[in-house]
Order: sequence, then C-alpha cells, then structure tokens
Amino acid sequence: MNVQSYDELLGSKHRLSLMLFLLLNTATAIFCVLRVIHHDTLTVTTPTIAIIIISIILLTWMLLKPVAIFPLLNIAAALSGLLWAWHITLRYQQELHLESGYLLVALVSVFFISAIALGDYLLPFLLHTAPGSVVVLALDRGQSTLIILFIIILPLMGFSLHHLMLRKRDKFTRRLVRQLYEEKETYSDLSMLDPLTGLYNRRGLQNRLENVIDNHTGNHYVLLLDIDNFKSYNDNYGHAMGDQALTRVSVAIRDAVRSRDIVTRYGGEEFLVILTNVNEAIALKQAERVRQFVLDLEIPHRFNDKVATHVTISVGVAPLIANDFDKALAHADRALYLAKSQGRNTVFSLHDASKRAPGKPADIV
Ligand code: GH3
Ligand code: MG
Ligand code: MG
Repeated sequence: MNVQSYDELLGSKHRLSLMLFLLLNTATAIFCVLRVIHHDTLTVTTPTIAIIIISIILLTWMLLKPVAIFPLLNIAAALSGLLWAWHITLRYQQELHLESGYLLVALVSVFFISAIALGDYLLPFLLHTAPGSVVVLALDRGQSTLIILFIIILPLMGFSLHHLMLRKRDKFTRRLVRQLYEEKETYSDLSMLDPLTGLYNRRGLQNRLENVIDNHTGNHYVLLLDIDNFKSYNDNYGHAMGDQALTRVSVAIRDAVRSRDIVTRYGGEEFLVILTNVNEAIALKQAERVRQFVLDLEIPHRFNDKVATHVTISVGVAPLIANDFDKALAHADRALYLAKSQGRNTVFSLHDASKRAPGKPADIV
C-alpha cells in the first residue's frame, strides 16, 4: 500500500458517502410524498419531487459508472439543502394549522440525513444544514428559538470537533503510510546489496538482469572473477584483512568497468560482471582492464603461490546468447576454471562456446 492507494481508499469512501446521502434524501422525500396521501389539505411540493428525481438519476449514473470519480458531494449537499429549505417553507405554509412542532421535526430530519451520510465531511455537512436552519429560524419567529439553536449548535460543535480529530488522524495515517512505503523501498534496496562490499548480491543481480534483458538490445557479456589463492590469504593474514582485501578488490572491479555494467558479489570471493552492449573485443579488453586494476592495488599476498606477490584475480568470459543467463554463467564458469588451470591472474574466454566441444577452450587471451 502507498499514499496513492490510501487516496483511492478515501475516494471510494467519498463515493459511498455520496450514494448513502442520495439514498437517504430519496427515502425522506418519498416519505414526505406518502404523508401527503393521508392528508387532504397537503399537496406534494415541487422540491420533494426534484429531490427524488435528481437523487435517483445521480444514483443510477453512479451505479452504471462504478469506477468514475464523483467530486459531487459539496454540490449535492448544497443543492439538497436548498431544496429542503424550500420544501420546509412550502410545507410550513400548508401545515401551519396541523402540527405545531413541524419546524423542529423538519430541522431534525435535515440534520439526521447530514449526520448519517456527511459525518466525515464538514463542508458538505454545513452546506446541507445551513439553508434549512436559516429558514426554520426565520419561520419560527422567535417561538422556539432556544430549542432550534440547541438542535443546530450541538451537532455543529460535535461535528467540528470530530472533523478536527479526523484531519489529525488522516495526517497521521498519511505520514505512516509514506514512512512505511519509504522503509519498504529502503529494505528492498538493502536486500539487493551485499553488506561487505556494497555491490549487488544475487537478488540484486536478478533484478538488474531483468532490466538489462528488457531494455538493452545488443550483445552482453558475462565475466566471472575469482580471487586467486584467497584461502591462503585468509589463513595467513586473518579474516579481517581478508575482508579488507575483498572490499578493495570490489572497488577496483567497479572502477574498471562502466557505470552501466552490473557488478555483483556472486559468492565468497567470486564476482560477476555483466557488460552491456559490447562486442567480444571490448568485453575482453574490459576483462583485462579489471584484472590489471586488481593487480595495481598491490595488496601484498606472499602466499599467492607461483602467481604474483600481490592479490590477483582470474577471469572467465562468455557471451550472453538469447538471454540465456544460466548457459552464459556455465560457460563463464568453465572459462574461469580454464583460467585457473592456465596459472591464474589471467583472462580466459569461451566465445560462442555452444559450437565447441565441451571443455575445449576458445581463445587464450
Ligand atoms: P583459487 O585460486 O582456486 O580460487 O583458490 P582459493 O583459495 O581462492 O579458493 P577457495 O575456494 O579454496 O577459497 C576461497 C576462500 O575465500 C575461502 C574463504 O576463506 C574465503 N572467503 C570467502 N568469503 C569470504 C569473506 O566474506 N571474507 C573473507 N575474509 N574471506 C572469505
Ligand atoms: Mg579463489
Ligand atoms: Mg572461489
């Protein structure tokens, strides 16, 4: 869930409130029409008919277009408030001699509709109740002013406070949703990185690989790199020094290739690089550059038997053909094995290895 889907949730709540508001208006207006049948002196008022027709049309439209956004609550509330005020005026003139408490009942009905459907929306609530309140106060001519004010002010105070709390809660929820979303992004990013070197781990590689396959046309190459005789480095210099050497080697690899290439710590002292949009000559040149960069770090390694006096790497190179990463990886692994058996601190390529007999090297670089 993100802030956008929280907004969508609020949008659908807005829509449901509008539907409920229209439904209550229709029911109340129909009730007014039914009352008329039992009273010879009363006639159906134009505003009641208007409320029924408008509400039913809007409701049908909303039901037919379930996904559309309806920013109509303010307009519907204001229109319905005016129509009810008009109705109260007409009916008061008709009912004056029948029921003394008509104005109070009418006012309570208007507040009742607002309280149920518009409780969370202060402006529509005010727009809906204001015309009726003004009309009732004016028609009453001071007879029950206290009761009328009580009916108006008490819910207004209640809903203002409710609205205040709602806004606070909404702000809090928004902040929480945003924070959760940001944290989710951070953890998702972190879960793709190797904590020691800061390079992508296998999960990160998977993620970037999909991106490369989707967005880059052209040839890509896989380099598999492995530090030579690293076990003896660890055994003799200690694990902490081993970690330091790993970190420095990873920086050298990152520096040697282009920023658009993907550099991964693939295993303990193994790295994997995907060179994007390159031909074989450039891929080999890049691999050689990586090997040289690591050697140039001049990390002393007295136990790198028969290879060098510094830390070195061996590199296996293979093309990524038809987006078959597993096959390219197997070829790069084979090339790395051959680089190791050729004496280490070297680059070995199996180009178009699928056409060759298994185990037979292509080029020695
Ligand atoms: P080769 O040239 O054939 O690759 O020999 P090697 O000694 O490098 O290969 P081997 O697979 O025998 O040893 C790899 C060593 O890498 C073993 C382990 O001590 C070390 N290693 C793997 N991961 C880490 C790590 O995160 N930190 C440290 N300090 N050492 C690691
Ligand atoms: Mg090794
Ligand atoms: Mg290894």
